[in-house]
Amino acid sequence: MQVRELMSEKDSASPQIVSPDIIARAQRGEREAVTQLFGDHLGTVHRFALRMCRDEDRARDIAQESLLTALKSLDSFRGDASFSTWLFTITRSHCGRLRRRSERESVSEDGDVVTDNAASEEPLPDALAAHGEVTSVVEQALDALDPEEREVVLLRDVEGLSTKEAADALQISVAALKSRLHRARSSLREAVRRVVEPTEFIDQFTDPGCPPIIEAFSKKLEGDLSVADCDSFQQHIASCPACAQRCASIQAVLGACATLRTHPPSTNLQTIIDRTALAIRKQASTE
Ligand SMILES: [Zn+2]
Repeated sequence: MQVRELMSEKDSASPQIVSPDIIARAQRGEREAVTQLFGDHLGTVHRFALRMCRDEDRARDIAQESLLTALKSLDSFRGDASFSTWLFTITRSHCGRLRRRSERESVSEDGDVVTDNAASEEPLPDALAAHGEVTSVVEQALDALDPEEREVVLLRDVEGLSTKEAADALQISVAALKSRLHRARSSLREAVRRVVEPTEFIDQFTDPGCPPIIEAFSKKLEGDLSVADCDSFQQHIASCPACAQRCASIQAVLGACATLRTHPPSTNLQTIIDRTALAIRKQASTE
């Protein structure tokens, strides 16, 4: 088991730090500072929006609206959350608004999203690490999660926010965040299995004596297993190859999640930068 390695990797992968100086200058309306601040975060905002709404055009709109909202309310940013967390909160609310609107508008549109692709995939061995397209599998699996579970995985495991930051962005308690996260990681692994083995999604090795191992693994990652529970976790892994393999696969999945963060945005973001810059100029000229 390399749980420890993954943990240290996650701990070091916090979102970018923004200097208070840049924030202060941006709040005073210095265009250069605003452009830099927003330019640095546009990729992240867009990536989050794209994974939440799964549509290029909508993601561009959400990213742009989010930056404009942030721009208008920049004065209200007090620095008690990180700037990224604050932006995620704004982006998330735009995603939610759009989702509710499109749910009202077209109920029938949903439901045919990932499964068509997934069904055409060749069945592959469970050894995800051997799969050349782990990233694409994980992306499909993320798409298959419900929005609540998807956003918690996106914030914590893709964007690398701390549990506190992710809880702040979702405006829930750390305890609530963690329990949602453990469930979501379990669902993520199931979703990966559905993508990889679409025709035979039966966890054939499930033994009634096995604990909910993925949730235990997730708790261990978050440092939430008591010493006693940690011991019994390790003992079970040592004596149960199936659970050891389950843990290895979620570890590979979470590793792939972290690499999604560094993926260059697939879309041309220049339009959003241009439009936001235009709005900045407009705002500057009215002051
Ligand atoms: Zn087991």
